[in-house]
Amino acid sequence: MKALRLIDWKTDPELVEVPKPTPRPGEVVVKIGGAGACHSDLHVMHDFEPGVMPWKVPFTLGHENAGWVDSVGDGVTTVAEGDAVAVYGAWGCGKCSRCQRGFENYCENPGEAPVVSGGGGLGLDGGMAEYLLVPAERLLVRLPDGLEPATAAPLTDAGLTPYHAIRRSWSKMTPISTVVVIGVGGLGHVAIQLVKATTAAKVIAVDNRQDALDLATQVGADHVVASNDEALGAIKDLTAGHGADVLLDCVGAEATIELARTAARPLGDATIIGIGGGTVPLSFFSQPYEVSIQTTYWGSRPELVELLDLAARGLVHVESTTYTLDHAAQAYRDLQDGKVHGRAVMVP
Ligand SMILES: [Zn+2]
Ligand SMILES: [Zn+2]
Repeated sequence: MKALRLIDWKTDPELVEVPKPTPRPGEVVVKIGGAGACHSDLHVMHDFEPGVMPWKVPFTLGHENAGWVDSVGDGVTTVAEGDAVAVYGAWGCGKCSRCQRGFENYCENPGEAPVVSGGGGLGLDGGMAEYLLVPAERLLVRLPDGLEPATAAPLTDAGLTPYHAIRRSWSKMTPISTVVVIGVGGLGHVAIQLVKATTAAKVIAVDNRQDALDLATQVGADHVVASNDEALGAIKDLTAGHGADVLLDCVGAEATIELARTAARPLGDATIIGIGGGTVPLSFFSQPYEVSIQTTYWGSRPELVELLDLAARGLVHVESTTYTLDHAAQAYRDLQDGKVHGRAVMVP
């Protein structure tokens, strides 16, 4: 079969021929119906010197995957050939207390996971291929009726990551509160829909691109604010001078983290979701009183079940541009150049 593989660190991936996987006991092979191209893949392929990540090259890219069960190994009972499934992307040990709660993204026993701090497409072969080997059936979530794999694939990361961040701040998203989403890209445009679908809070979207602000309005933002020196004042004006109750920074650059924490209302949450690498100095007075500054990484398996249900009911969708496997390398180049509308999804 064909697969888009990272052959060596700090190189562009190559489309090569590899053997189709066969499942051993407990494993499942999924015929890929969709694989999302994520911004973090660009860091994986371009930024890391050999030895920085605990992973060996080569491996096939693609950590946002969905498809149909192609074959199952001995002992697999919860899924069968032909089932439409999404793949939960963080592959932990499955046994520690975090994994037991479904938070395999925070596995505390990574030495016993299939790969340290990764999964398919992150150290092991991922879904930018015709087939994907999944090491355990618990990592599959059956798709609800009405949800196609190509639609579900980007939800497993671009949807799950903001859903988790929103869910943990739900108690602060009351009907009279305001949520600010900074960065209306692959994650941000889903974040807006998720706040609207699961709470009655007002949403302000912030971005420096007009087409992103148009998309924000289209997917339900109540207000849009240009990302510039006046953004803080604009957020204050839209919140009667109080600041926002929850700010979700889907960028994570220095300027956006600074905006998120300074535009927060006392007792608010400022959550850094994007891995933009920005840093800001922290002190007692660097943000309003009792603002919680937090980071999140991905989400839990039970949250993915809820998210897929929301999507099947039409309450959230991922804007996407489709590429064939033959053009998957181009998808990453377009992503790098900022040319992709919504999420780039490879459909073989
Ligand atoms: Zn990702
Ligand atoms: Zn674990």
